[in-house]
Amino acid sequence: MSKNAKDIDQLTGFKVSDDFCKFDQRDEIYCRSEWDESVATDKAAKFFSGYFMPNARSRKTDGFGQKDYALRNAAWHVTNVLRDSSRQESGRKEGFFDHFTLHEEGWPEPYPFDNLQQSSDELRKVAKLFGADLLGVCAYDERWMYSALFDETTGSSKPPDLPTDLPNVIVVGEAMDEGLTKTVPSALSGSATGLGYSNDAVTLIGLAQYIRNLGYRAYATMNDTSLAIPLAVQAGLGEESRQSLLITPQFGPRLRLGRIFTDLPLVHDAPKKFGVKEFCEICDRCAKACPPKAIPFDAPSDKIYNRSNLIGVEKWTVDAEKCFKFWANQNTDCSICIRVCPFNRDFSKWYHRLWRVLASSNLRKLALWLDDRFMQRGRQKSKGWWLQP
Ligand code: SF4
Ligand code: SF4
Repeated sequence: MSKNAKDIDQLTGFKVSDDFCKFDQRDEIYCRSEWDESVATDKAAKFFSGYFMPNARSRKTDGFGQKDYALRNAAWHVTNVLRDSSRQESGRKEGFFDHFTLHEEGWPEPYPFDNLQQSSDELRKVAKLFGADLLGVCAYDERWMYSALFDETTGSSKPPDLPTDLPNVIVVGEAMDEGLTKTVPSALSGSATGLGYSNDAVTLIGLAQYIRNLGYRAYATMNDTSLAIPLAVQAGLGEESRQSLLITPQFGPRLRLGRIFTDLPLVHDAPKKFGVKEFCEICDRCAKACPPKAIPFDAPSDKIYNRSNLIGVEKWTVDAEKCFKFWANQNTDCSICIRVCPFNRDFSKWYHRLWRVLASSNLRKLALWLDDRFMQRGRQKSKGWWLQP
């Protein structure tokens, strides 16, 4: 491991062993649902086709009716259109298996910023204007790039196609709607996921074009190309949790992440800790609430469950096979682990920010007790969401 990587790991707390292997995107669970018979079941195929209305398989159960699927599928629509924009022509599934290419030629010469602070401040301003809820910047880290990409047309791997000399990664976070998340499990709550992706895609493509228009290189990526969470942690957005999601001080675990790889000169953010790991050590609510028991109860380790897990990193690892099977069985994605998490709060309110101070301190057991006592963490009916003014 390079000295640089060791320095970064000291700041983030990552424990990366000599066994570490870069991740092949083909092993990611959604890719496996296209080639691995143990994941590519009939139910999985129906799950994916259900994101298009005639195949939605709505039912009478609360949260799974036609209206709920209508909204969920509409929330995904922009992402789906962008994803399929060059799929027929080139076999690329942009935003999921391949980076976005919907860009015009930029300016031929790099814009001469006075200094790094100026380019960084202006980037944040533009990102906010384009809809980003969070933004952080870190150095390119080869370890978190996929070793190979998944080629949907052949079901095999293909070489990564991003330049490797782009020094900076901009990590963009898009918040998921809190009210919708309260109705998990439901097709309706999947709208929060779909909107998170659609907003993310629009922000990322616009921001990358802005950087290109300044005369720099920029590649917008979403679930493709690299692992999201290690880069988000390095960019100072938050910490990884027991449920293997990023927890941020602003939105807790309700976030979708995208990355832009660029040579725009920028100030790097520092990783920030606010006590998530210590809190997860005294809390196992997501593990208890997860229907297929995909979230571990034990301490972080380098244990892996199957080929969809990252080898050689000590952390809490979710059994992606169990998780995805549950999604396919209930015919929509699930965020029960997000709904029940004590960090899932509206931090724009002062009392929730005060709770965060407690949760980050030695009084975290009190914070957990307060959450148990005063927060409604049960599923709310989707019907209630529709009736809200
Ligand atoms: S529910 Fe508890 S253990 Fe799970 S991620 Fe949230 S704080 Fe950590
Ligand atoms: S999304 Fe649902 S099934 Fe997957 S880990 Fe979270 S609670 Fe478990």
